[in-house]
Amino acid sequence: MKVLVVGSGGREYAVARALKKSPLVSEVYCAPGNSGLDQIGVKQLDIAEDDFKGLKDFAIKEEIDWTFVGPEDALVAGIVDYFHAFDLKIFGPNARAAQLEGSKDYALRFMEKYGVPHPRYDTFQDAESAIQALPEFGLPVVLKEDGLAGGKGVVIAEDQETAENTLREMFDKGQKQVVLEEFLTGPEYSVFAVMQGGEYRLLPLAQDHKRAYDDDKGPNTGGMGSYSPVPQLSQAEYDEIVDQLVKPTAAGLEKGGYDYHGVLYLGLMMTEKGPKMIEYNVRLGDPETEVVLPRLASDLAELVDANVNDREMPEVKETDDAVLGVILAAEGYPKSPLKGQKLGAFPAEAGIAVDYANVKADEAGDLFGNGGRILMVRATAKDLAAAQEHVYSYLKKLDIPQTFYRHDIGFRATGKKYQ
Ligand code: ATP
Repeated sequence: MKVLVVGSGGREYAVARALKKSPLVSEVYCAPGNSGLDQIGVKQLDIAEDDFKGLKDFAIKEEIDWTFVGPEDALVAGIVDYFHAFDLKIFGPNARAAQLEGSKDYALRFMEKYGVPHPRYDTFQDAESAIQALPEFGLPVVLKEDGLAGGKGVVIAEDQETAENTLREMFDKGQKQVVLEEFLTGPEYSVFAVMQGGEYRLLPLAQDHKRAYDDDKGPNTGGMGSYSPVPQLSQAEYDEIVDQLVKPTAAGLEKGGYDYHGVLYLGLMMTEKGPKMIEYNVRLGDPETEVVLPRLASDLAELVDANVNDREMPEVKETDDAVLGVILAAEGYPKSPLKGQKLGAFPAEAGIAVDYANVKADEAGDLFGNGGRILMVRATAKDLAAAQEHVYSYLKKLDIPQTFYRHDIGFRATGKKYQ
């Protein structure tokens, strides 16, 4: 099979790597991909992820068997519907289903309709009515811009003044709708389900670390590291998540006629009153993908191929390994990341792998940081403590200027931090 991956980050790198490993796959292309892909034999294409026509023309010309879409923007903008109109196979939800990520109000209404536990909420079209409703929610209160905001559209306001100012700012800069939500507390988990109508297969569980600095301090980021499995979540809690969140969601997708194909990411909080949905994403998470896919003992390409061809999906099998990955980010990330740091070679070491995300090669082929999250270093080991130990001893040996990383990825599972 020849397959095409759309996107350019660490997530797409990990997907391309997993597909490349499959005996069913002869060629993997990535559009636009990143320069690090050369190292794993994946061809980059000079086609942007929002250039649907360019992607479609390539898929037809090269007789691509199916296309795997990484990022949400392309899905929300309707890449799946577009490919289907040309009879091309593509892995991801259509634009209607992608609204589950594209609009927070839409997602909450879906949860309400199909009995998926969620925070109490209300949606407003202007700042003054939202401000009037604040007392009903108490403090802190969660304020969410309705549309895609790349993780930057959520504010947890601790006091009345911040809540009022934030609401005014959100509407002033052009938001049409803002959602107020009850503030919940509890650990957060990410569950990935490969959906096929109302059928699903669950991928290994992962947890990421959103804050920029150690001890969960600093601004929110796309994610600074992740690990899988997540031993602090008990089997009983996991079963509760599947029963209360995954099953009604899958049933709702079926009843609502969404024809959902692709990954559904359930971001949830384990509260004192049981699991509650925080958000749906309509694609894999980044940096969770980088630690989830290496734990698959079954073939990702076989799963996707069954999914897009509407055959029964094979069971997903997990290895007993633990995988823990730490993001190396550009100094200044997330506010004003520096670019151009020379990365140098990463010494080969059994159990260690590098997933490139935001890198650029010069003419000699040397790789440089290109802002934001540059790459992930991850370790595979028999348990998380060993993986954590290995990844940090490896990182300590590197000396890459103008970069930083967190020293405590996995601490909730291992209780340990490194310096
Ligand atoms: P991202 O794309 O980064 O996951 P997002 O913009 O889609 O973020 P959400 O996932 O809805 O937004 O919220 C971001 C974070 O805010 C959550 O991971 C959670 O930590 C916090 N959060 C969201 N909703 C609530 C809530 N009701 N109670 C407490 N915390 C919340």
